[in-house]
Amino acid sequence: MRLLEYEAKKLLKKWGLSIPEHEIIRAPGSDTALSFPVIIKVQIPKGGRGKAGGVQIAQNNIEYARITQLLFSQPLLDCPVTMLLIEEALAVQQELYLSILLDRNEQSLVLLAHAQGGMDIEAASKHSKPLRLLLDTGPNKKVIQKVMHYYALPAALTPQLATVIDGLWQACTQEDALLVEVNPLILTKQGQLICADAKIELDDAAAFRHNWQFEAQPASTQFVILNEHGTIASMANGAGLAMATIDAIKAAGAEPANFFDVGGGTNVGGMVEAFKKMAALQKVKAIVVNIFGGITRCDEVAEAIITARQTVAYLPKLCIRLTGTNETEGRALLERAGIRTLPTLADCVAEAAKEVHSV
Ligand code: GDP
Ligand code: MN
Repeated sequence: MRLLEYEAKKLLKKWGLSIPEHEIIRAPGSDTALSFPVIIKVQIPKGGRGKAGGVQIAQNNIEYARITQLLFSQPLLDCPVTMLLIEEALAVQQELYLSILLDRNEQSLVLLAHAQGGMDIEAASKHSKPLRLLLDTGPNKKVIQKVMHYYALPAALTPQLATVIDGLWQACTQEDALLVEVNPLILTKQGQLICADAKIELDDAAAFRHNWQFEAQPASTQFVILNEHGTIASMANGAGLAMATIDAIKAAGAEPANFFDVGGGTNVGGMVEAFKKMAALQKVKAIVVNIFGGITRCDEVAEAIITARQTVAYLPKLCIRLTGTNETEGRALLERAGIRTLPTLADCVAEAAKEVHSV
């Protein structure tokens, strides 16, 4: 799961890193409590925002109002813009690149540093070599010294860099991240190391260890048509559960039409789109919805089902199993909307098969 920049920064702050003074806004603004100049940054789960125009500077209230209006008015890199991060601009001395990531080949966490961070990091790493260090037991004095030397920073910055590297290590290991990246890590004219941008990829497989409460991310949605003549459509979260659902439908003697993998997060819009596609499959008589909520929240799934019921014409019969995170809330929402759930996948499949045979 990829966090939004502001969420990633919040985590880094928790582990002792410095981040700029900031605000989050969800609608165009005419005023900010921060002092100008401010940097206005689109919050979408994608990189390359700067180059696409999603990172802008405002010198005063007039520019602030104009830019926030503009950024909210159109999608960026195919993502709808629903939130902006406003930050006090930093006086930049130097932009650095620093990350810790899981290297599967090395079976180890690896530290990557580059002395020319910023938007052109890909180009920069072609011209000069990044520093790459294996971190098997974590960062020690030697690691800090190597990075200091590589960046050619003045010795007075050693304690600050140690705090940054330790913090990244803690964030990566304690939060179960696959990647924590700061690009740029800005050295300000005042001599502070501050995270101007942050990217964190959490390991979905470790979700059970945490109580992750992050903004809904566009899920890695997948819609796969298996058989145009199939009579039962299905929606599940995770490829394994989707496969099990298909198998159960087949075992009940019915023909699966498709599967839709809701993915890790919950994307209400994406799910409603999927219901639309299923409703358009001519032969489909029932949809099995099989959710085992982890990161996926049952109440959000319920919301998507209710919206689909209200907005999709000719929605086939729904056979819903909803269990896991927020299942009580999810079931209550559905009940209030007059939509029934079933206790097990077997019940869902049996009911779907019955529907197919009755029409
Ligand atoms: P990305 O393009 O999605 O990686 O967005 P970033 O958040 O990295 O922003 C792009 C660029 O904007 C950075 O590489 C910096 O050069 C610049 N930038 C970001 N924050 C600040 C800031 O607070 N002050 C200044 N002067 N520049 C910034
Ligand atoms: Mn960046």
